Amino acid sequence: MSFGKPPTVPTQFQIYDSYAEDPKWQITFTKIWCGCLAAAVGLSAPRFLRAVRRRRAHVDLFGVRDDSGRAYESVTQLREFPRPKSKFSEMLAGILRMLGSVLLWSPLGVGLDVGQIIVCAGYIATVVCCIFIKAPLVDNPNRAGFLAIAQFPVVFLFATKNSVLSLLLGPGHGYDKLNYIHRWAGRGMFIGAVVHGALWIRNHLQYNLAILSQQKEGSGVAALAVLCLLVLLSLRPARLYFYQLFFYLHVMLYVAFFITVCYHTTYAPPWIFPPLAFYGLDIFMRILRYRIKDATLIPVDNQMTLIRIHDCDGGYLGGQHIRLRVFFEGRVFESHPLTIASAPPVISCLPSRDILLGARVKGDWTRALARYAQAEHTRLSASVIDEKDGAETGVPVQVMVDGPYGGCSLDLGERESVLLAAGGAGVTFTLGLLDDIVGRIARTGRARGERTRRIEFVWCIRSFGCIEWFTPQLMAIANAAAMPGAGLDLHFSIFVTCLCDPEAVPPIPNMRVTVERPSLRILLRNFAASSTYLSVENLAVEGRASPSSDEDLKNESRAPWSGKGGVAVCAAGPENFTREAHNAVARIALSESRRVGGIALHTETFAM
Ligand SMILES: Cc1cc2nc3c(=O)[nH]c(=O)nc-3n(C[C@H](O)[C@H](O)[C@H](O)COP(=O)(O)OP(=O)(O)OC[C@H]3O[C@@H](n4cnc5c(N)ncnc54)[C@H](O)[C@@H]3O)c2cc1C
Repeated sequence: MSFGKPPTVPTQFQIYDSYAEDPKWQITFTKIWCGCLAAAVGLSAPRFLRAVRRRRAHVDLFGVRDDSGRAYESVTQLREFPRPKSKFSEMLAGILRMLGSVLLWSPLGVGLDVGQIIVCAGYIATVVCCIFIKAPLVDNPNRAGFLAIAQFPVVFLFATKNSVLSLLLGPGHGYDKLNYIHRWAGRGMFIGAVVHGALWIRNHLQYNLAILSQQKEGSGVAALAVLCLLVLLSLRPARLYFYQLFFYLHVMLYVAFFITVCYHTTYAPPWIFPPLAFYGLDIFMRILRYRIKDATLIPVDNQMTLIRIHDCDGGYLGGQHIRLRVFFEGRVFESHPLTIASAPPVISCLPSRDILLGARVKGDWTRALARYAQAEHTRLSASVIDEKDGAETGVPVQVMVDGPYGGCSLDLGERESVLLAAGGAGVTFTLGLLDDIVGRIARTGRARGERTRRIEFVWCIRSFGCIEWFTPQLMAIANAAAMPGAGLDLHFSIFVTCLCDPEAVPPIPNMRVTVERPSLRILLRNFAASSTYLSVENLAVEGRASPSSDEDLKNESRAPWSGKGGVAVCAAGPENFTREAHNAVARIALSESRRVGGIALHTETFAM
C-alpha cells in the first residue's frame, strides 16, 4: 500500500529553523575566508619559494642562535640570470605591476592602503551578506549571533604573534603586518553581536519579556557588554596613548568574553577550539624562541639608547624586530618591539656578534631606559673606562628576547636599485636592511646571486646630532661597499629639519647632508629616472671603486647593470612618513614601473 508523497508546507508558512539553517551560514562564511586565504597563500607561493631557495625563509623559526663558526651557505644555482621573457609576457607583467601600484595608494587618516581597504571592505561585506541573506532577522536574530561566533578563528588567527599564516605567507608577513585584519575581524564580530543582541532586546521589550531574568539572557547581555568594552578600549587613541593598559585589559576582556559566550550558547564551544589551537601554537613557538641574554646599554645621547645583545650568531635577519624585556628597575613584565639594526655576523659589515637595537625616547619605558642607562653609565664609567683603557663601554643588563618577527617582504638582492628611506628612529629598520644587503654583496661576494648595483640611503632627522646615533655602523657599511670588486654604488642622503649644530656631521664616505624636509615623491622620481642611465662607469666618475681585476670583470659580466632590474623601496618611520612613501610609489610606479622593471615597496610603521 502506498501513501504517496507527504504534503509539503508552502515556504511562506514554514517556520524558520534557526538552529538548522544558521550553522550552514557559518560554514559558508568559513569556506569563503578560508578560500581567500588559500588564494593569498597561492599568490605569495612563488615569492615564498624564491625565499626558500635563497635560504631566507624561516631562518628565525627557532629563534636567535648562538653558534659562532657557522659558514654562509651560497646558492650557486641562483647565480645565472633569469631567462629573458617574451615581449608579450613582459608587457603583461608591466601592466599588472602598474595596476597593482594603485593598491598602494594610502589615503590620509585611514592608516591603510587601498589594497588593505579592499580586504577589509570585502571581509565586512561577506559578514553582512552572511548575516542578512534569507534571514528573518527581526523575528529571529540568531543568524547574526551565529556569525559573530564564527569569526573567532579569524580574530585569533590574525592576532597571534606566531601564526601558521605568517609561516605560509613567508618573509615579511609577520603579525604586525596582518594585525589590521584582526582589528577588522573584531569589528565584524561586533556587528554580528550588536545586531543579534539589539534585536533580541527589542523583541523582549515588544513582548514584555524580562531581559535579565534567565541565565541565557543574562549571559548574553554580559557577553555583549564585554565585547562593547573590548572594541571601545581597542580604538586607536587607546592603543596610541595607553598601550600597556590597552594590552592588559584586552587580554582580560577576551577571556571574559569567551567565558560569557560559552555560558550564553552551547553552539559557541566548537568555534573556540580553533582559537585555542592558534593560541597554543603561539605559546609553544614563543617558549621555543625565548632567550635570556646578556646585553649592554649604551646611552648615545638623551634621546637614543643603543642595546647590544651579545653572542647572537643567527636565527634572525636585519630589519626584523624582537619583543624585548630589559631587566631593569623591576620592569620585568613590559616587553617592547625593537627593530634589529644589524645583520647576522656571517653577513654583517660590523665587527661583532651582537644584535644591535636602538630605542628612541618616546614614552614611559624608553625614557626610563635612557635615564637608567645614563645614570648607570655615569656611575660605572670612571672605574670601567679606566680599566678598559677608554674603550666604548656600556651598562651590563640581562634581557629576554621574544622573536624575531616580521622583517622585509622584499629580497633586496633581487633588485638592481634600492631606495632605503627612514624618518627618525625608523633608521633601525633601514640600517638593518643596508647592513644585510651590503654584507651579502661585499662580504660574501654575491653568493646568492644578488643583483643590487645601486643603493640610496635616505634618512630624515631633526638635528645633525642624530647622525651620531649610528655613525660607526654607517661608516663600516660605507667602507665595505667601497671595497674593490663590490660593484656597488652606495650613497647616503641625510635631511635635517633643524639648523642646530652643523659641525656635528661625521665624515661618512659618499654622504650628502641637506637642511630641508624632502619630498619622497621627488626623491623617488629622480632615483627611478636615473636608474636607466647610471652605469658602472658612472661609479668611477663619482669617486667609487670601479671593477678592476679580471675576477671583478667576470662578476660584472655575470650581473650586468641593465637599468631594468627593478627598484625596491623600503621606508620606515612615523605613519605620515610611510604614507608618503606609499603614495610616492603608487604615483611613480604608474608611469615608471615598466621602464625600470617594476617598483616594489615595503613599509614599516613603528606603531600597532
Ligand atoms: C614593529 C615595531 C618595531 C619597532 N622598532 C623600534 C625601534 O627599532 N626603535 C625604536 O625606538 N622604536 C621602535 N618601535 C616603537 C617602540 O616599540 C615604541 O616607541 C616603544 O614601545 C614605546 O614605549 P614607551 O613606553 O616608551 O612609550 P609609550 O608612550 O607607552 O608608547 C608610544 C607608542 O609606542 C607604541 N607601543 C608602546 N608599547 C608598545 C608595545 N609593547 N608593543 C607595541 N607598540 C607599543 C604605542 O603605539 C604607542 O603609541 C617599534 C614599534 C613596532 C610596532
